[in-house]
Amino acid sequence: MRFRPPSVRARLTLWHAGVLTLIVCIFSAGILLFVATRLYAELDAQLDREIATIGNIYREEPEELKDLPSRWGITLFQVEEAGDIRQQTEVWEREGLSRALQPGDSPSPQSWTAPTGRHYRVHSISESSYRVAAAVEETSLRDTLWTLAVILATGIPFAAGLAIAGGYFLAGRVLSPVGAMAQEAREITAESLAKRLPVDNARDEFGQLATVFNDTLSRLQDAFERLRRFTADASHELRTPLTAMRSVGEVALQNTLDAFTYRDVIGSMLEEVDRLTRLVESLLILTRADSGKVQLAPEDLDVGGLAGHVVDQLRVLADEKQQELVLRAPIPVHATGDAALIRHALMNLIHNAIKYTPNGGTITVGVNATDGRAIIEVRDTGPGIPAAHRDHIFDRFYRVDPSRSREEGGVGLGLAIARWAIEANGGHIELVSEGTDGSSFRVILPVSDDSSAAGGDRQLPCELRRERQEFASS
Ligand code: ADP
Repeated sequence: MRFRPPSVRARLTLWHAGVLTLIVCIFSAGILLFVATRLYAELDAQLDREIATIGNIYREEPEELKDLPSRWGITLFQVEEAGDIRQQTEVWEREGLSRALQPGDSPSPQSWTAPTGRHYRVHSISESSYRVAAAVEETSLRDTLWTLAVILATGIPFAAGLAIAGGYFLAGRVLSPVGAMAQEAREITAESLAKRLPVDNARDEFGQLATVFNDTLSRLQDAFERLRRFTADASHELRTPLTAMRSVGEVALQNTLDAFTYRDVIGSMLEEVDRLTRLVESLLILTRADSGKVQLAPEDLDVGGLAGHVVDQLRVLADEKQQELVLRAPIPVHATGDAALIRHALMNLIHNAIKYTPNGGTITVGVNATDGRAIIEVRDTGPGIPAAHRDHIFDRFYRVDPSRSREEGGVGLGLAIARWAIEANGGHIELVSEGTDGSSFRVILPVSDDSSAAGGDRQLPCELRRERQEFASS
């Protein structure tokens, strides 16, 4: 089984100490090797000098060889000629240094250990008729190297210990923000999502991690808050028609009424049921939208045709209020999108325009294309939407005038659904009017590349056919 230290701090400490010990070991071995090479080089140079001196003296004044130890301090040598030993020192003989000599000459000095335990550096050089061999004791050199090795070896565990202690301390300091973050994070629950992790330095790795975590928390808090608000609003919206139905029913039960009044009561209860149905349907759409599981079926759309169909469908509602509902689509405009979703969005916009525009008003639906974008504009001559509501108008359950919207049967989700439907198709929706001089909403959709896929005039809604014929003849 592989050993795995339990904490990051321990792992860091072990790695730090391990690497440092390895460096110290390599460094110590390097020093030892360097010093040994230098000391042996000096010893060998001394040996070479001694051999040269002995050779010179042997050639020039051989009888002076015996004075070499006293005069020159050369105590270990031997001179041999034609197999006869001409001169050798007493210590050479005693230590049996002749045994260290190889048959023939060795190319470089050799180390040799005498039976007495002494260590020597021995070298021999042959001239034409004689051979000079010399030796120097290397025991003190070995002692020096050994002492150095012991010092370095003692330093290694000391350095390792220091590395462990230093590493542990350092890792503890470096990792302390993680501990603090973990402590804070442990205290964050669904009820305390407003808490944030401490950020000591936003530029270091832990600071970046904490910042990312805090951003995630903010998004989570936002999502929770929206969910909470949505649930509260939805319950409130569901309760209103239920309360209305209950009170209408209770009042009807308390009194004996004629058949006409009972029909009236049932009628108003059905109206509330209608409202509930619309609300539940809208909630279902938004839930599916939030889950991101809506499968889009993008296709090439004749935007004018699509708007025309919606206008045809809603004309009856406009007629009821003696409103003029006009479609202006002078040129064929094609966009790519899911027809059902875009139709739903246009339906909500045009229905709102009819709902909130007083009797006798005018609603204009314009379809055009600019800068590679399809533009649909729904304008009305109603009360308009004051600038203060501009930022919230597409929020769920947001109403400019709650009582009026309820009266009109609105559930406050129409624009939210329209925005989702358009944005899901890569488009954009905005309120372009300001103030109280009518409202104007603009939908922008990406224009389709394949504009040739126009369906032909046969499939166009009657409103659009009339509009295009007028435009062509003008
Ligand atoms: P609702 O179902 O209440 O109409 P929406 O999301 O469709 O909900 O609209 C949100 C609010 O925006 C409405 O309650 C209304 O106050 C305002 N609004 C939307 N369209 C218009 C419009 N064409 N004219 C005036 N006010 C509008």
